[in-house]
Amino acid sequence: MKESLNSPGVQIPEELSGQVAITTLDRIYNWGRRNSLWPLMSGLACCAIEMICTAASRYDFSRFGMEVMRPSPRQADFMLISGTVTKKMVPQLVRLYNQMPEPKYVVAMGACASGGGPFKEGYSVVPGIDKFLPVDVYIPGCPRTPQALLNGLMKLQEKIDHQTLKSDAHWYKKGGSAPIPVPILGPDLIDLRKIEQIRLASQAPEPGTDEDNHEVPHE
Ligand code: SF4
Repeated sequence: MKESLNSPGVQIPEELSGQVAITTLDRIYNWGRRNSLWPLMSGLACCAIEMICTAASRYDFSRFGMEVMRPSPRQADFMLISGTVTKKMVPQLVRLYNQMPEPKYVVAMGACASGGGPFKEGYSVVPGIDKFLPVDVYIPGCPRTPQALLNGLMKLQEKIDHQTLKSDAHWYKKGGSAPIPVPILGPDLIDLRKIEQIRLASQAPEPGTDEDNHEVPHE
């Protein structure tokens, strides 16, 4: 513990070593956060089985202080998205993300959550949750192993280690961060952030027709 808390280059007298740590506010703040990251449980497909396995005795991610899987977004520090993200699930995931308190993170576990995976071309599948949520760590591959998930979670810890209260802690700044508009699910998924582009695309004449939607005769 003292090694991870001590600021590098600071000499502790021999007689106090093991009892005293000299550190910075950033370091102790991040040390507390990185060792008590509570995941929001969200298992969407087969990757969820690997996630469950990582929490069980063999891999045991409670070693990292992450064992308290929360069913409530209001008690979670990061969203662990494990599995295929369907269009039907996206509004729920965005709503849950908005309900999480800052600081919050997103981990995309597996090829499906990262980029659509083997179902990328499917009519019902979103090609990566990063189209809607800001992903902090991607864990590639299909299926994703518990070892890879542990490695991804350690990458998240490294990211937290490098954050500073002065420049990165936007959650303490006035106004905080704006919620992400929850997409609307109709015949297809509508991202409200792109509503102007969608409106312009719907007004553009179809290929092969003029502006009044009349067919253009072939020369
Ligand atoms: S990445 Fe592979 S193992 Fe994971 S949810 Fe997709 S298909 Fe299943």
